[in-house]
Amino acid sequence: MALVCDTGMWDRETPAINHPIRLLQLLVDVGGVTDPLVLAAAALHDVLEDCEVGFPELEAQFGTEVAGVVFELSDPPHLDKMAMRAWAVETAPRLSLPARLVKLADKTVNLNDLIDWPPAGWSDVRKASYFDWSAEVIARIRGTHDALELAFDAAYSRRPIP
Ligand code: ZN
Repeated sequence: MALVCDTGMWDRETPAINHPIRLLQLLVDVGGVTDPLVLAAAALHDVLEDCEVGFPELEAQFGTEVAGVVFELSDPPHLDKMAMRAWAVETAPRLSLPARLVKLADKTVNLNDLIDWPPAGWSDVRKASYFDWSAEVIARIRGTHDALELAFDAAYSRRPIP
């Protein structure tokens, strides 16, 4: 599978592969997660959104289960930012357990990255808005995994106060 991806993370310099690696570290080291389905989905969670890969190709390469979890974690195309955020909050309770674990790790890594490697041009207001939306999504899937939720809460405690 040729992976043609968005070129990098928010700062546009860190290679995009660092992001899924950080999710895997969190899931394994903090979460004690060993389920290969969760770890494969974490590694691949952004490819439908950010890469020139479609569901059939992902399914052919990694199987229906992994592709299904990645699909759960992918924003529907053609929604604007506000609609996408509302959709994520609304649909979070319907996520499968593997998808919830990846979602917890993704939001935690994203919040920490926003503080540690802030993207150029993001004001504190914009960062705080991302923090608040992330907390809304995670609030809908509380009770999934204690250690990962604590890690999310620690990340959220770094929210900028505009
Ligand atoms: Zn992600």
